Amino acid sequence: MARGDYYNDDGTTEKDMCPRCGDTFLADHGDRQVCGKCGFTEWE
Ligand SMILES: [Zn+2]
Repeated sequence: MARGDYYNDDGTTEKDMCPRCGDTFLADHGDRQVCGKCGFTEWE
């Protein structure tokens, strides 16, 4: 199990924030990222 997949050395995440909510992280679903709050989907 590799470290640093989700967190940088300083503890911050590399995940993107939802542009609609602003305070919610997007969940990584492989080929897309989805906001669990408003349903915003960002395709990669
Ligand atoms: Zn959202």
